[in-house]
Amino acid sequence: MEVELPGIYRSGVIHHPGPTSEGCEPRTQIITHLVLHHTAAPLPSSLRTLQGKNPDHRVGVHYVVSDEPSPRVIDMVPESYSAYHAGKSAWGSKDGLNQHSIGIEIINLDGNKHPYPADQVELILALCDEIIRRHGISPVNVVAHSDIAVGRKIDPGSLFPWRHLAEHGIGAWPLTVDVEEFLTLPAPNEAQSRSMLTDYGYRLEAGREGLRLGIEAFQRHFRPHRVDGTMDAETGALLRALLRRYRPEAPLGLPAAVKPAA
Ligand SMILES: [Zn+2]
Repeated sequence: MEVELPGIYRSGVIHHPGPTSEGCEPRTQIITHLVLHHTAAPLPSSLRTLQGKNPDHRVGVHYVVSDEPSPRVIDMVPESYSAYHAGKSAWGSKDGLNQHSIGIEIINLDGNKHPYPADQVELILALCDEIIRRHGISPVNVVAHSDIAVGRKIDPGSLFPWRHLAEHGIGAWPLTVDVEEFLTLPAPNEAQSRSMLTDYGYRLEAGREGLRLGIEAFQRHFRPHRVDGTMDAETGALLRALLRRYRPEAPLGLPAAVKPAA
């Protein structure tokens, strides 16, 4: 006789079976990306919405991380299915990230206003770790919903602890030594900013506003203490340092070297 266990024990994370979701379809692409979200709604209504029963707004996600006193990972869609969590989205050369990704929805009303509790962060870390290992997801492909839907989404927000995750091997972060080197340079100009953000993965709309929104998305992830859409020297240094570390083929928009006197 099968013994009923409270959850599936897998790489240290206990998985709790949740309600199933209709917001999914069979997967046709290999998994290369991990997308993080905040729900902007409490647990009960999030679980209702994510069952994907609304035909006009069919949504779904693989995992929900709750905000209960002892946070839980709640499974809704098997990884062999593509869940409808990203919507219209792009990252690098890929469009429509649903088929390429695993999605995690984190219960938080607004990750730009409400900090993520430490217990919840540790569970997110463990869950990301097992997913990344299982699929060999590269650091630059661990992204915020706001990274892949620039100007449309702001989750999981500027208070999401990306740096803390990166210190534990989850996702991308620039090397301090590179940031310090690039801090001595002037900020990239508009054309350089656009091409460097694009080289890193961001898909920008044309025009000044498109660029501003792209800089905001970048800052929300990598320079969260000031998200103002302005390419200043610090934002430029972080972007150049990330490119050097993860996109070594990309030009860094560096000023032409001063010719030594003849
Ligand atoms: Zn989202």
